[in-house]
Amino acid sequence: MSVIPEGWEAVIGIETHVELQTRSKMFCGCRVDFGDDPNTAVCPVCLALPGALPVANEAAIDGIVRIGTALDCTINERSLFYRKNYFYPDLPKNYQISQYTYPVCEHGRIVVDVDGEPTVIGITRVHMEEDTGKSLHMGEGGRIQDADHTLLDFNRAGVPLVEIVTEPDIRTPDQARAYGAELQRIVRTLGVSDARLEEGSMRFDANISVRRTGTSELGTRTEIKNVNSLRSMQRAIAFEIERQIEVLATGGTVIQETRHWNETTGRTTAMRSKEESEDYRYFQEPDLLPLFIDEQWRDRVKASMPELPAQLRARLVAAGADERTAGLLADSPLLAGLFDAAVRAGAEAKTVASWLTGEVVAYARRVGTTVDELSLTAEHLVELAAMVAEGELSATAAKQVLAGVLAGEGGPRQVAETMDLLQISDSGAIEAVVADVLGEHPDALEKIRSGDSKPIGFLVGQVMRATGGKADPKMVQEIIRRSAGR
Ligand code: ADP
Ligand code: MG
Ligand code: ZN
Repeated sequence: MSVIPEGWEAVIGIETHVELQTRSKMFCGCRVDFGDDPNTAVCPVCLALPGALPVANEAAIDGIVRIGTALDCTINERSLFYRKNYFYPDLPKNYQISQYTYPVCEHGRIVVDVDGEPTVIGITRVHMEEDTGKSLHMGEGGRIQDADHTLLDFNRAGVPLVEIVTEPDIRTPDQARAYGAELQRIVRTLGVSDARLEEGSMRFDANISVRRTGTSELGTRTEIKNVNSLRSMQRAIAFEIERQIEVLATGGTVIQETRHWNETTGRTTAMRSKEESEDYRYFQEPDLLPLFIDEQWRDRVKASMPELPAQLRARLVAAGADERTAGLLADSPLLAGLFDAAVRAGAEAKTVASWLTGEVVAYARRVGTTVDELSLTAEHLVELAAMVAEGELSATAAKQVLAGVLAGEGGPRQVAETMDLLQISDSGAIEAVVADVLGEHPDALEKIRSGDSKPIGFLVGQVMRATGGKADPKMVQEIIRRSAGR
């Protein structure tokens, strides 16, 4: 990705929205189901009919407490709901119930690792709010400017939404991407959301400013919307940094505004001037009581935390995987589970890690499936690793056997036999062949006896030929040396 030019520094803060997959909506009993026909999961509360009253969803509050706990936040005992007022057709109440001062969680952190360099990114706040409905612009391309008319679907209106806001601690597009990826992993591990960027159950807004290195004041920021993948976030930020530096370097000023990322052109364009929080006329929601999350609740959540991605990676590294491999394994619960089980049963960690992240992943990709659908078991890995350790299979042959196992041809031993890849690891059998070969080459044997080790390679080659390549070359070499008294 683009390198930030000498003398400049970028400052980035990210706001992330995560839709919680609770059974019902945030303030009413409507189901949360994204496959439904339009406007079938609605009621007077989420359609904002006069007189309808909201009731907070306990499961959603539990979800945000879980997120805040995983992000090392302080969970406030008392927090408040506010009305954030604005008009848009997909917002039936003309305000969104959100939080302002006193959010549920504050002061957390995420550590991200870019090229082996850990960076701490502060989490300013994590607050609870509700999603809006969806506007469907009918006409070419689904864009508002080309539409003849717009349809509204309120199924999403009132779905629990958690917003996670970082401190302006991010400095590069790579760090921003790593942050997004780690947050996504954490949310998925907690099981509170599927956090899919393409489908909008996780959405990023990136705030960017630039400044001369050595200054501590923040520059004027822009906020980028419409980044639908980690890669577009990284590209959008890189573009925006470059654009702002260009503006400032040529004597211009950056305008505080919201900009739209265009995936096709690879550019951001001005969308609207940035609204200030005063514009929303925030005031405390009169229809909801303050939210109390007592110590018992916080402790219960803490005690039920799953192993988080960073902890899993650390454990995989401790078990013998290198950092990069641990990262790859940790991204797939299935691979991590296979690794764990195989290593616990005595398989060599490095070998298993390299098979899983190498051959297994490549095989799944080649046949167009996911690793979850392969029928590989930890027992297969243990058996295969043992065959390599015992000298029954060479490292290369083991990979061929693994491919056979993945293709469903049987267990490792069965596949190795069918493919005729088993090495002769019976030392008696090899000794007999070595004796024959030495008998045919007395001069070579004599040279080795007198201290010249050059003919060893030649003799190993002869033995390998005589065994059809099935002897363990290391063992052959040892036996030759022993026979020559060296
Ligand atoms: P909003 O965008 O709703 O007004 P905030 O003022 O809380 O919300 O800021 C949103 C995000 O912008 C935060 O992640 C914050 O760290 C980041 N941010 C604030 N000022 C700057 C700046 N000058 N440059 C880059 N990021 C900034
Ligand atoms: Mg914002
Ligand atoms: Zn409803």
